[in-house]
Amino acid sequence: MQMTAMPRKIGSELWDEKVPPTWDADREDTLICRLVRSETHDVKTFLFSPAKPSLFRFRPGQFITLDLNIGGETINRCYTISSSPTRPDTLSITVKRQPGGKVSNWLHDTMKPGAEIKAMGPSGDFSFTHHAAEKYLFLSGGSGVTPLMSMARTCYDMAADADVVFVHSARTPADIIYRQELASMEFGLPRFRTAFVCETAGDQRDWAAPTGYLTGALLETIAADFRQREIYCCGPDAYMKAVSAMLKDAGFDMAHYHQESFTFGVDAGAEIAAPAPTPAESASPAADGFEITFQKTGQKIICGPDQFILEAARNAGMRLPFSCTKGICSTCKTKKLSGEVEMKHGGGIRQREIDQGMILPCCSKPRSNITLDK
Ligand SMILES: Cc1cc2nc3c(=O)[nH]c(=O)nc-3n(C[C@H](O)[C@H](O)[C@H](O)COP(=O)(O)OP(=O)(O)OC[C@H]3O[C@@H](n4cnc5c(N)ncnc54)[C@H](O)[C@@H]3O)c2cc1C
Repeated sequence: MQMTAMPRKIGSELWDEKVPPTWDADREDTLICRLVRSETHDVKTFLFSPAKPSLFRFRPGQFITLDLNIGGETINRCYTISSSPTRPDTLSITVKRQPGGKVSNWLHDTMKPGAEIKAMGPSGDFSFTHHAAEKYLFLSGGSGVTPLMSMARTCYDMAADADVVFVHSARTPADIIYRQELASMEFGLPRFRTAFVCETAGDQRDWAAPTGYLTGALLETIAADFRQREIYCCGPDAYMKAVSAMLKDAGFDMAHYHQESFTFGVDAGAEIAAPAPTPAESASPAADGFEITFQKTGQKIICGPDQFILEAARNAGMRLPFSCTKGICSTCKTKKLSGEVEMKHGGGIRQREIDQGMILPCCSKPRSNITLDK
């Protein structure tokens, strides 16, 4: 990890007449840490700016993928951008320390202002910008608050007229992330409401809000009209499973329910997409596999018929954005310009994207020579 020692002229970019270019979501680039803030005893926010002058452009709810070198090992991890795209000069991630976790502990213990790291993205489809609605319900548990906070901050900065109820579940009041900021948003936006649900009151004896888990009965008291709301949910898998079961029991139309998982525990293979063959491409493999051409870089590799394209590219020394390797996170999503693949993904790509020729190289095996838009 490198450190930049040069002091910065504060905000000089803001009155420079030249508008910086947009940060390129398709390329890995360098971020400089500007600020580290403790949110709770085990959660910290890290604020970054681009090393080269550029502005971040993303949908609130999207994530970036950090490409780290920890003890000589290359490790990728996704973190949701917790800041709002309305403040494009910087972006923040908010990370919960996982006991025994490699990256979260490394960030908490090592990341300091001035440090440089590599990142790719933004990527991801979890954003309320995809579904215009009059009323939203944000349901978050623990560090799953981050994508919803980005959406809430966007509403606040845009003075959005949307009716938002933001329900956050935490172990104790001391574990509530962004508690003060959410309270001040509630004060500042007339149709923005928050509710905190803590398992126990912890040390806070005067905690007056309900304790326990979020139940259907409790949700009725917080937002009696929840069946009319577009719901966005993010939190531990057990929390999201309980929430979606509760909503189904309550007769909620799940077409209006959207969730983001922070884990890759699901096996790939939820769907199989086999696009129509492209006649121009050879369907018989070369002696040791099919040829994969990366059009932008001009690189060519050979990928065996039983090998995933991402794996073959990495074996050939190429650096491509990736994270889960199971077709879930969509970090590696790429446009296929020609050729045929067999793709077994875990939900990280939508049917309409597949129809447009997108693939996830991490879970795609070639069935002919392939050209990718990379
Ligand atoms: C789209 C997306 C967005 C995300 N956004 C956020 C966010 O905003 N904030 C956030 O905090 N996190 C977020 N995450 C989660 C984040 O990417 C990391 O998974 C998380 O920080 C843990 O990483 P780690 O390297 O610290 O833990 P890891 O090293 O991956 O370990 C995770 C857990 O597994 C245990 N473990 C590791 N190896 C083994 C083993 N061999 N046997 C048994 N147990 C083991 C560890 O003890 C630890 O408890 C997001 C994930 C995704 C996919």
